[in-house]
Amino acid sequence: MSRLLRPARVLLLGPPGSGKGTQTERLLKRFDIPGISSGDILRRHIKEGTEIGMLASSISKQGRLVPDDIMTKVVASELGRRHWLSPANSWLLDGFPRTRGQAEMLDSRELAPALAGLNFVVELVVPEHAILDRIANRLVHVPSGRLYNLTYNPPKVAGRDDVTGEPLTRRADDDPAVFRNRLDEYRASTQPLVEYYRNKAAGVVWSVAGETSDVIFAQLEREVVRRFGERVEETADGAEEAAGAAD
Ligand code: AMP
Repeated sequence: MSRLLRPARVLLLGPPGSGKGTQTERLLKRFDIPGISSGDILRRHIKEGTEIGMLASSISKQGRLVPDDIMTKVVASELGRRHWLSPANSWLLDGFPRTRGQAEMLDSRELAPALAGLNFVVELVVPEHAILDRIANRLVHVPSGRLYNLTYNPPKVAGRDDVTGEPLTRRADDDPAVFRNRLDEYRASTQPLVEYYRNKAAGVVWSVAGETSDVIFAQLEREVVRRFGERVEETADGAEEAAGAAD
């Protein structure tokens, strides 16, 4: 774990099955950046039975998106609640903005005039065949949520959970036809979003390609250090060093 020298306001984009969750987790831990996920905020509203929660619950059950204006208001108020509006803060957004409309609303600063905008938009590019392959080879132990992959992380006994010995199954939403739909939907909503950030400021969008999480993370880690610099661990004589502080 280390600290960045300059504030990073990060958005990570990646198709379903691209390992976005893994990259997010590793990034937050590696650089000690706080993150918020729009899905988590909505699930909290649902649990607390708020008006937004009731709306989000019925919308997500139909597989639709919460309207842009409501979603942006919810996220902006969460950023304010955490005192993350100043340009000195680093944070990562997971799942928001998801559409071009949300990005425009966030940048208009109508909802949060003091908000400092995103300065690093990461696009995970994973070949479709790698995603479909990963999904086709994925098994889950439902009671614990333990995931296996027949290629990278197979169970010790075929078809059985390592810990309990209970049977493994496929996730219902890992059906290849359903999955293809989700990939198509992702592309349709994300491409305009990526274009928006590309046109907004040169160099904000950074695309990274790779077939495995380790290959992608190694590149991502290097790029974060290159852009934001990091304060490295104390040296033996107690002095601190700064690394990767290039602008
Ligand atoms: P997730 O956990 O990111 O899959 O989000 C769960 C559900 O919350 C989605 O299916 C959407 O209905 C809703 N949701 C999450 N983030 C957004 C967003 N940025 N815009 C609109 N709806 C969202």
